[in-house]
Amino acid sequence: MNVKQLTRNVTLALILGAMPLIAQAAAEIIVVNADEPGEGFNDPTPVQPIGGNNGLTLGQQRLNAFQYAANIWGRQLDSAVPIRIKSNFDPLACEKDSATLGSAGPLMVNRDFAGAPRTNTWYHGALANKLLEADDFEGEPVIRARFNSNLGKENCLEGGGFYLGLDGQHGHLTDLVGVLLHEFGHGLGFSNLTNGQTGRRYNGIPSMWDYHLYDLTAQKSWVEMTDAERVASGVNSRKLIWRGQNVTQAAPRVLQGAPELRISGLASVIGTYQIGTASFGPQITAAGTSAEVMPVVDQTDGRGLACDPLTANNASAIRGKIALVDRGTCSFNIKVKNAQLAGAVGVLVADNAAGSPPPGLGGSDPTVTIPAVRITKDDGEKLKLALKQRSRNRSGIYAALGISATQRAGSDEAGRLLMFAPNPYQPGSSVSHFDTSASPDLLMEPFNTESVKRNLDAPHDLTFPLLRDLGW
Ligand SMILES: [Zn+2]
Repeated sequence: MNVKQLTRNVTLALILGAMPLIAQAAAEIIVVNADEPGEGFNDPTPVQPIGGNNGLTLGQQRLNAFQYAANIWGRQLDSAVPIRIKSNFDPLACEKDSATLGSAGPLMVNRDFAGAPRTNTWYHGALANKLLEADDFEGEPVIRARFNSNLGKENCLEGGGFYLGLDGQHGHLTDLVGVLLHEFGHGLGFSNLTNGQTGRRYNGIPSMWDYHLYDLTAQKSWVEMTDAERVASGVNSRKLIWRGQNVTQAAPRVLQGAPELRISGLASVIGTYQIGTASFGPQITAAGTSAEVMPVVDQTDGRGLACDPLTANNASAIRGKIALVDRGTCSFNIKVKNAQLAGAVGVLVADNAAGSPPPGLGGSDPTVTIPAVRITKDDGEKLKLALKQRSRNRSGIYAALGISATQRAGSDEAGRLLMFAPNPYQPGSSVSHFDTSASPDLLMEPFNTESVKRNLDAPHDLTFPLLRDLGW
């Protein structure tokens, strides 16, 4: 049986012309221009050449950036069938401070074609054609990609539009080539066809993605789960992993050691603790920060919020120490700054809401110079119980913030990649990206990262190893 399926109704009426790309590619990627006259790729607004992009109109520069990104992917892939990407610029969701940069996904999926590695399993159209070694879609585009035409305009990341240069020197702008590489990745196969929000499979049939997704809590892959189990798994942060061998094998060459917190001193608290790192202050380094732990106590109920400058007693207790403070009332960077001003060398923020792993500490303050991490509510309570036995200036409990010798940032203890599964669910992002704890940043994280890679394979990135797990 040969079953083909459109993921949505396709209107071909808007296609104005196809643009074949260079032939050196191991796979030919053809960008199908779906913009109307005068807009998007056809925008005649004159521009100056920039960063190796010699186009003299806005539309031509956009096309050149597409060609450039498509060529990078084309050199990586291996397919006898040209891959057509229907692309255009549209006004996408925008706010003053955030915007959808682009979106892409498969326009076609296929199953039970000749030579399909698994029966009754969806494959993205481009991959299915590669495996079939023939075009089962008669020349129609297999990927749909849209990019935000309003980016950088009023009330749409104003002043922060796309950088159209090809050299990655994007400064404060958003690197279009980087965004294109990311979105093409989704279209080629880096996306789940099963709805994580409802747990429902596309037409009741699993995709190759579901075979590799594994939930450490349920101890099941997504193909083994009920809809309800998949819904729970889609928000099981840092417990949803990718079991594909290519990614797991490549990960040690790509990912750095994970930041970790080790506690020592008293038998009841010894161990390695889960942490969330801070978006402000210094990064945790291999050299690390070690000191005795002392709590800040500035509330009658025993909590130490550190939202105000510390009292003389508190300051005396935490000077030269790693301060334990409670989450709540004020922002994380205020707490950490108050501890720093009182002489602390590091901060542990104990969560006030149950759950694990602990999320990171958001916020920014360039004057914070000491490291800070979040620990779970449970771990915080365990530490506080042990700290009740302290003297005024000594606790006998020690914390070391450093880099793990064994666990990599963005993977589980067995070295398998964590997938993005925040709670609440984020439509369009959840389950179809690598987790944000990966370090260095990976191309297929859900947010545009500063250091977008242009090499899609290890040791620079894990995007292509994941596609190889799917059959590329
Ligand atoms: Zn994405």
